[in-house]
Amino acid sequence: MPSRTPYVFNIQHFSTHDGPGIRTTIFFKGCPLRCQWCHNPESQLFEPEIMTQNDGKKELVGKQYTIDELMTDVLKDHMIYDQSGGGVTLSGGEVLAMDRDYILELARRLDEQEVSIGIDTCGVAATRTVEQICEYADFFLYDLKFIDDDLHRKYTGGSNHLVLKNLQVLAANNARIFLRLIMLPGINTSTDMIERTMLWLRTNNIPVEQVDILPYHKYGMDKYAKLGRKAIYFEVPEDDEMQRVKSEIEKFYDNVTIGG
Ligand code: SF4
Repeated sequence: MPSRTPYVFNIQHFSTHDGPGIRTTIFFKGCPLRCQWCHNPESQLFEPEIMTQNDGKKELVGKQYTIDELMTDVLKDHMIYDQSGGGVTLSGGEVLAMDRDYILELARRLDEQEVSIGIDTCGVAATRTVEQICEYADFFLYDLKFIDDDLHRKYTGGSNHLVLKNLQVLAANNARIFLRLIMLPGINTSTDMIERTMLWLRTNNIPVEQVDILPYHKYGMDKYAKLGRKAIYFEVPEDDEMQRVKSEIEKFYDNVTIGG
């Protein structure tokens, strides 16, 4: 297996949360960010790692697949994709931070089989990769965590400069964008912060097909202990706070969902 072959930590069949229809989602392992609320901490390192389950059993997280192996796996559900308007979503970690040749070849092969491709991204990726994947991708699930760069650096460990730049690149390429906004009460849910985000999108003519506002949740946080790391907890938003944010975004976009 070539050393630049990415690691995968999960392949989820019959997913209904990662874009239209019924999809297979491939979760690649490795991410340039370290979001403090990340509910998939096993997705962050680019290398395999050991997870110790509650019963003491040790599990190796991260497996390499050839493109042929992935194609064989995902094409088993080709008919389901066609019937449901689904396809394959490439996720992570950060899929666009994987080896570019590998990801582009995987996308090309899926496209060749007329499989719809979704890209789930945090936007921190080489702009060249973003431009090139546009040739194959049907849509993007695009995370915009903080419009404010100081907050982005504080809570994710990285700047939002590339996130905003790559969003402009997608707009210039007429990509279908499903924007995903994580909601962390007291940090990015204020009316002022929502307006700043919406005004930036409007000023930059970003054509968003749907805005999904995602309430912070605590599922998956037990995985930190299993990896020997310490979890950080945030406040979970109340339903009425999510409704308020939804109404505020609806002043700018028609198609807003809570939870995606
Ligand atoms: S971008 Fe996503 S996968 Fe990466 S650290 Fe943040 S939440 Fe986790």
